[in-house]
Amino acid sequence: EQIALVTLIDEIVDRYTKEIVQKRLRINFTSQVKDALVPRYYSNLILDNVINNAIKYSKDNSELLINIYSADNHIVCQVKDNGIGIKKEDLEHLFNPFFRSDALNHRHISGTGLGLSIAGKAADAIGAKVLVNSELNMGTTVTVKF
Ligand code: ATP
Ligand code: MG
Repeated sequence: EQIALVTLIDEIVDRYTKEIVQKRLRINFTSQVKDALVPRYYSNLILDNVINNAIKYSKDNSELLINIYSADNHIVCQVKDNGIGIKKEDLEHLFNPFFRSDALNHRHISGTGLGLSIAGKAADAIGAKVLVNSELNMGTTVTVKF
C-alpha cells in the first residue's frame, strides 16, 4: 500500500504534537515535489523513528526542517534538527541494535537504542538509504533516499 509522502509526514508530525508543543519546536516542512508516493508500512517505520529522534534530541525552542525533493530520479526526505548532535566516532554505530550515544548531555533522554536499527532494516526492505550527518552540539541531518 502506497501513501503520499507529504501525508505520511503530516501524520507522523501529528503523533508528536505533545512533544513539539512542550519543547516549543517550530516545524518547517516544505516539499519540492507533489504526489510522491512511498510504501506506507516501511516508510512510516523509517520516518517515524527519524522524526522522533529529531524531536527528542533537539534543543527547546529550536527549528526542525523537513524537506522533500527529488534528486536523480529518487525521492529524498531530509530531516534537520538543531539538537545535541552526535560525535564522529558514534556515527558508524547508530544502526546497531541498542546503541545509544553516551554523551553526558544525553543521559536524561530515554530510549531503547532500537529506533534507528528498525529504520535501517525497514530501509533495506524497500531499497531505501538512510544517511546521517551530524556535528556535536550543532545538530543532525538525516537524509532518507527512497
Ligand atoms: P528509541 O528510538 O528506541 O527511543 P534511541 O532514540 O536512543 O531509542 P535510536 O533512535 O536507535 O535510539 O538512536 C540511536 C542513538 O543515536 C540515540 O540514542 C542517540 O544517541 C543518537 N541519535 C539518533 N538520532 C539523533 C539525533 N537526531 N540527534 C542526536 N542524536 C541522535
Ligand atoms: Mg530513537
